[in-house]
Amino acid sequence: MSDHKVYYNYIGGEWVPARSGKTYENRNPADTRDVIGIFPDSGAEDIAAAVAAAKEAYNAWRLVPAPKRGELLYRASQILQERKEQYANDMTREMGKVLAETRGDVQEAIDMGYFMAGEGRRLYGVTTPSELPNKFQMSVRQPLGVCGLITPWNFPMAIPSWKIFPALICGNTVVIKPAEDTPLSTYNFVQALVDAGVPKGVVNIVSGHGPTAGEPLVQHPDVKVISFTGSTEVGRHVSTLCAQQGKHVSLEMGGKNPMIIMDDADLDLVLAGAVWGAFGTTGQRCTATSRIIAHRSIVDELTSRIQAEAKTIQVGNGLLDGMQMGPSINEGQLNVVEKYVKIGREEGAELVLGGERLTDGDLGHGFFHQPTIFGNVKRNMRIAQEEIFGPVVSIIPVDSLEEAIDVANDVPYGLSSSIYTRNVNNAFIAMRDLYTGIVYVNAPTIGAEIHLPFGGTKGTGNGKREGGTQVLDTYSEWKSLYVDYSGGLQRAQIDNAE
Ligand code: NAD
Repeated sequence: MSDHKVYYNYIGGEWVPARSGKTYENRNPADTRDVIGIFPDSGAEDIAAAVAAAKEAYNAWRLVPAPKRGELLYRASQILQERKEQYANDMTREMGKVLAETRGDVQEAIDMGYFMAGEGRRLYGVTTPSELPNKFQMSVRQPLGVCGLITPWNFPMAIPSWKIFPALICGNTVVIKPAEDTPLSTYNFVQALVDAGVPKGVVNIVSGHGPTAGEPLVQHPDVKVISFTGSTEVGRHVSTLCAQQGKHVSLEMGGKNPMIIMDDADLDLVLAGAVWGAFGTTGQRCTATSRIIAHRSIVDELTSRIQAEAKTIQVGNGLLDGMQMGPSINEGQLNVVEKYVKIGREEGAELVLGGERLTDGDLGHGFFHQPTIFGNVKRNMRIAQEEIFGPVVSIIPVDSLEEAIDVANDVPYGLSSSIYTRNVNNAFIAMRDLYTGIVYVNAPTIGAEIHLPFGGTKGTGNGKREGGTQVLDTYSEWKSLYVDYSGGLQRAQIDNAE
């Protein structure tokens, strides 16, 4: 084979190849001549070994005092901070988004580590007074055991950190199966934990493909909880498999996020937000702005201003200075973008900007596409209903706030939404009536912070949340404890024994 760097799975404290010996290449989506590394193409037997190691390690890890577990997380965050630039570079090479954004991705992992390290000194429970004399009662969080974590490629370090850190602080052990397109960033994250001193078997990483490595993890009977982030289609499948075993599952899935622009909005502010919301991360954020729902009285001015601004976006290799937008993650994703551009044209939407793949010079070696804007889009067109996950935004004219909110809610997803208005009443009505997990006022649909709950309604999620202290509910269960120190069986217990 080649002299490309070879990476191994981390199982039970050892770096090991896939048992089958199979591997796959990870290439740079901005330049497919650049091989990032060779990764294990793992199967069920590797997952079984990782789960066994995690199960064994759980016996001791669950008994480590939570503040001590927190110290490990704190050290890992410090290491991530020291390596931020290197890890951001690696991430831009394997994922494509520009350096400013990959630095943000690593930073989110750092923030999550510090936040969860602090939770090691809280992990608050509940105490309530008893109905009886001489009786004490409380409820505490208990860990579940081995957690199976499955992650997407668009935030290849932040999203693993949103899962691994809270799982560990609660006293669980983990097996993570990173996205096949971006294993290196998740390996880097695990390396930071290893260097921080994580005990053997507490964190295991097994790379490979969804059906052959992800699915055995979901189906393994010793995995007590699955936390999945990815597409709605795969998430529903994962959820069905979990239901068959009565397994806990947390799902974070697709989005079709709306930005409402009222006629009183500050259009200068809108411009920056709309362009960043729609084309940041090449539109490959679960929270990307993919629908701009604009009041008819300003829609023409807005469309021409967004068009002029988006035209100036520098598209190219995210490692180069001045680049603002990178490639799609792979050929398949680029094909999806091209398919939806064709659908939009056929549906009669007006192509205001872009619409073509970029192939000039070095761009021809990557999966680049022009920033693309459709105007005069109708609410029920496929480009306004289905997740595209690329640099394509639809502008939908409406006549009132009521109609805007109705259009905003009229999709199968409910992750993020935003409204631009200077009218405080409009803002509060939107905050109340937009049925999404996140609502922004005078800001784009992206920009969540890790210490508030993150997640979506409808087809985006299953009621769970990442981030905030709410994430702890995914990785722990409540245990209620009653202590009777009366020295005898009390009357109410006889009358009302549950
Ligand atoms: P995907 O569903 O194709 O893959 C996600 C993960 O699931 C990958 O690790 C993949 O290997 C694995 N997988 C695939 N098939 C599987 C199977 N049968 N069993 C078990 N695991 C399997 O999604 P993607 O293309 O990596 O990511 C893009 C999607 O993720 C978009 O829909 C986006 O909106 C969504 N996303 C959502 C959030 C959120 O928080 N709501 C965040 C980021 C991305």
